[in-house]
Amino acid sequence: MESFPFCPNPHCVWHSNAPDFAWAKPKGFYTTKAFGRVQRYQCSACHRTFSSQTFSLAYYVKRPVALPDIVARLVSGESLRAMSRNLAVSLNLLSNRIDRLTRQAIALHSICLASRAGYDDICIDGFVSFDTSQYFPSEIPIAITAHSQFILDFSHASRRRSGTMTAAQKAKARELYRRIPLERGALARSFRETLVHALQLQPPAPYRPFVLITDEKPDYQRVLHRLAAFRTQTEHTRLVHWTISSKLPRTLSNPLFSSNYIDRELRKDLAHHHRETVCFNRNVANGMMRLSLYLLGHNYLKPFRIRAHKGAHPRTHAEAAGIPVQLVQHFVQALTGGIRAFLSRCTLSETMRRTWEKRWKTPGKTKAEYIPKYALA
Ligand SMILES: [Zn+2]
Repeated sequence: MESFPFCPNPHCVWHSNAPDFAWAKPKGFYTTKAFGRVQRYQCSACHRTFSSQTFSLAYYVKRPVALPDIVARLVSGESLRAMSRNLAVSLNLLSNRIDRLTRQAIALHSICLASRAGYDDICIDGFVSFDTSQYFPSEIPIAITAHSQFILDFSHASRRRSGTMTAAQKAKARELYRRIPLERGALARSFRETLVHALQLQPPAPYRPFVLITDEKPDYQRVLHRLAAFRTQTEHTRLVHWTISSKLPRTLSNPLFSSNYIDRELRKDLAHHHRETVCFNRNVANGMMRLSLYLLGHNYLKPFRIRAHKGAHPRTHAEAAGIPVQLVQHFVQALTGGIRAFLSRCTLSETMRRTWEKRWKTPGKTKAEYIPKYALA
């Protein structure tokens, strides 16, 4: 008989932890095309029935696809279209599997963050891309550790197009922005979210100030100065804002190196495939799913500073940032082969939860995104 670590029913007393005795009783079978005959079980507390499939990343899947393959391709920057061609699956099926993998990655990342032993200065900078069209640029602030290039969190903001435009473009922009209202203060909100989460993860302590490194954008300063943690700081809870001129050469000795590095990685993978890959055109919620998997893949799957450590033991950015090795290994294994993460058992940041629940708004789209019921349990 199989044993299960918890009851999948979020309202059951055994959802967070199951007892030691055999609480799940076998109860009949069902047959699926993809997996054949599957044993059903019943929880003796809530009487809900389930099977080993309920705990599987392939829950409700009609057609199994190699998940490690999808991760490897996405993290190396392969476009959605190329992936769909090479794996001979539809774009819809691919999106569904990416959603599953991203939720899994988000859950595992939150576990790793809770056990991080390291401390580092934090760089935050906005990666600029666009959604749906050039008229809807987006800015994605990414909070990344200054010395280990480990990504803590990221958010998203839609803004209006700026810079020089022809008269016709200006007229089009006016018309679009009249019809499609954008969130006010989105830039500040997205920066604040990543900053607040970074502060929670490594609060300042005596002799160990929280050092925030950004460029000289006045928005950043404004947000920081309104933060209670900044205004009420004492000598024991020091918050230091180190601003770096964007004119400085983007070398390894630039304090914003980590931000420049991840920006370049994203550009490199974006340049090849333009819109379809980790950056996103038609739909922000889907785009954030792909971007999350890409960025978390950077943390846990990519070797730390590929060029600088040629031939050396391949340490990941996560390890370099103080995530215990066993947890990094757990991330790698459980991402594609572990027990499916349940939202009700996760402690997520505001932004990660929004990604999980696909609540990022696409400019011009009013309908909520579709989310299968199992993803919200
Ligand atoms: Zn139960």
